[in-house]
Order: sequence, then C-alpha cells, then structure tokens
Amino acid sequence: MLEKLREFINELPILSDEVDAEMESMEYDATNSEQLRTVREQAQHNVCAHLKQEGQCYKVIYFINAMTVCGACDEKLDGAYVEINNPVSDKGMYINHLLLHTFIHHDQLYVNEPNVDVSGNMDGTRRIDLNLVNLLKVLDRAAVPADIEKEVTGYFAAKSG
Ligand SMILES: [Zn+2]
Repeated sequence: MLEKLREFINELPILSDEVDAEMESMEYDATNSEQLRTVREQAQHNVCAHLKQEGQCYKVIYFINAMTVCGACDEKLDGAYVEINNPVSDKGMYINHLLLHTFIHHDQLYVNEPNVDVSGNMDGTRRIDLNLVNLLKVLDRAAVPADIEKEVTGYFAAKSG
C-alpha cells in the first residue's frame, strides 16, 4: 500500500548531504574550523533557501552515531531519528528511524522496540506506530506530486469505506 508515498519519502533529500554538496560547489578559503563553520552555515542557508523556494521537503538525521539494524532485511540504519521537514509551512515531525525504514521498505506502520529499563535491562517490547495522518499534515503545502495525493486520498477512502 501507499507505494508512491513511500518512494517519495524515501527519496526526500537529506539536509546534511545537500549542505556537503553545496560546500563543494562554493569557492572559499577557510583555514580553520571557525571559518569552516561559517562557510557551512552559509551553505546551509543557501540550501534551505533553495528548498523553500522549490517547496521541497527534506530529512534531517538525528543521533547520527546511533545505529540500528533492521531485523527484517539486515540493513544498517544510521541515526536514531529522522525529522521530516517542510520548509514551506515550517512543520516537521520526528520519526524513529527503524519505524520509518519499516514503513518505506516493509510496508508496515509499526515496529516493536525492545523496552530497556533504567538499569539497562531488557523488559519486553513496546509497539510504536507511525502517525500517518500527522506525516501527511507535514507534507501539506509542499511540492507533492498529484499522483501521491490521489493515492493517499484513495487509501483513506478505502479505510473508512
Ligand atoms: Zn529492513
């Protein structure tokens, strides 16, 4: 279900990759980390302005050092959370990376995460669900191809029908 939406989310640009590419295209003469930081800020500013102009949603990966392995396909996922951001409306949503991966690649709207108590002991699992309605609200007013809107409308019509 929702194949087009899943592919669309999968292909959204990752902000840090876009900023890296922008820096490569810029001419700068930075010799220390502070100058480099300034250049990077300028690059990020350029990228965000461009994304906003295009109405292009993007992803930001958080806790990049956290790594999860998908139990279904063994893919390694860098980063604990992915934020989907809409520069037009300034709306965003954090999604557990494994949950987002499971939706995109395994067509499932939930995952069971191990529950770890304060002492670090495993204590069963807890289910986390993807809030599809909120996700679609985040995409609102951004550049979303018409066939995806049609697919989503059809999906909810079938669910309520
Ligand atoms: Zn997987």
